[in-house]
Amino acid sequence: MDLATIGNLVGIAGMSAGGLKTSAEFVGTVKELLSSPKPDMIEVKKLIAEVYDKLIAAKEAQMTIHDTLMELQKDEMKQQRFAAEAERYALTTTDMGALIYALLPEKAGGQPVHYLCPQCFEDQVKSVLQPSQARFNALSCNRCNGCFPKSDGRSGAVTVPLQSDWDPFD
Ligand SMILES: [Zn+2]
Repeated sequence: MDLATIGNLVGIAGMSAGGLKTSAEFVGTVKELLSSPKPDMIEVKKLIAEVYDKLIAAKEAQMTIHDTLMELQKDEMKQQRFAAEAERYALTTTDMGALIYALLPEKAGGQPVHYLCPQCFEDQVKSVLQPSQARFNALSCNRCNGCFPKSDGRSGAVTVPLQSDWDPFD
């Protein structure tokens, strides 16, 4: 919902109220015409048609207002849902210096540890980061293609031998 839409909504509401007032005036004029001894039926029919058009326009405006309000309500519910979800995460720095949102252990509710894309988070979208298919030690966002360095134990080049005094031939 942007300002232009809200402005439009206010405009439509104003037009609708104005239309109804004018319709009431038309009805009054039709009644007046019919009360005369020799009513001008062509004029009456013309006025009735005008009232009818006004009512249709008002009805259409009302439907537009209804649709816009429904949309507004849906947006608000979506925002509330995201705000509730957002409380379960905290911005953290990975061991490789990237900033990502991490699930708070006390609010995990049985879910496995996971991370959210900080860029999508700004758009109020919860996008779970997945191990990158293109890079080692990186998490990627499937929604915005963001890539965040983080050790994942998939080091492709470096292997560190275990230091042990144990020898199988002893
Ligand atoms: Zn993203």
